[in-house]
Amino acid sequence: MVFLGGLGRSGTTLLERLLGELPGAVPLGEVVHLWARGVLADEPCGCGARFAECPFWRLVGARAFGGWSDALAERVLHLRQRIDRTRRIPRIAHPGLAEYVTAYRQVYESVPGAQVVIDSSKHASLAHCLAAGGLPVRVVQVVRDPRAVAHSWRRSVARPEDGAPMTRWGATRTSLHWTAQNLALDLLARRGAQVTRVRYEDLVADPRATLTTLATRLGLTPTLDFLDGVTARLTTSHTVSGNPMRFTTGQIRLARDDSWRSALPRRHQSLVAALTWPLRSQYGYRGETA
Ligand SMILES: [Zn+2]
Repeated sequence: MVFLGGLGRSGTTLLERLLGELPGAVPLGEVVHLWARGVLADEPCGCGARFAECPFWRLVGARAFGGWSDALAERVLHLRQRIDRTRRIPRIAHPGLAEYVTAYRQVYESVPGAQVVIDSSKHASLAHCLAAGGLPVRVVQVVRDPRAVAHSWRRSVARPEDGAPMTRWGATRTSLHWTAQNLALDLLARRGAQVTRVRYEDLVADPRATLTTLATRLGLTPTLDFLDGVTARLTTSHTVSGNPMRFTTGQIRLARDDSWRSALPRRHQSLVAALTWPLRSQYGYRGETA
């Protein structure tokens, strides 16, 4: 199992879609949201079908649990509330941890035809839970310039699932979450998990080189015939939750979005730059305001 971690709007969905085109890799989307958005709310899968009607997820549910049920989803959400929290990362131990991790393990192990399953849940706390629960979790930490991330969180985007606006954060809040999530993923490496850092900017600048290195590191064959320069051809994937890009199929052009440089007010750029230092600098994002 490969876990994609990082703060939202950092490119995790894009990376998941690209990795998902590699032979033997099966992208699942954000499994952390499977219980509420998939099982309980019956939101659409990346294939367009309602969760309950998607043949892929029906099969996974049947193999893992003898079928999905509201009681199961509510139980996992109850455990999540108690165990899987950012503030609990320093001390993960909990009597319900084994049961919580087993639910995820059963999902991963029930995916048909997978050499590697990809969970793009992002939250560092879940990666810590899975590792503490004994899963051999390999983490890919996706980082992006925090000023670009802050700009993205300020923008208003409608969820394709129900048209409701996605959550918006201000610059301060984004900076604090960016730092907390990335520090927590760094800590995971110090606790012995395999953590590979990928910069979004490097991925879109040279997808072939980035994906070749990453695939090899993850034990996947780097067959990249879906890639032509910076154009990628995406097929349908059964991702349970994630950003609107999970529904995209066909050709996409990978291009770095630097609109924050002109669109994010200077005072916000300075604020984010200050609040995310020194980690930002450690990841190679320099300059105070540009
Ligand atoms: Zn599906």
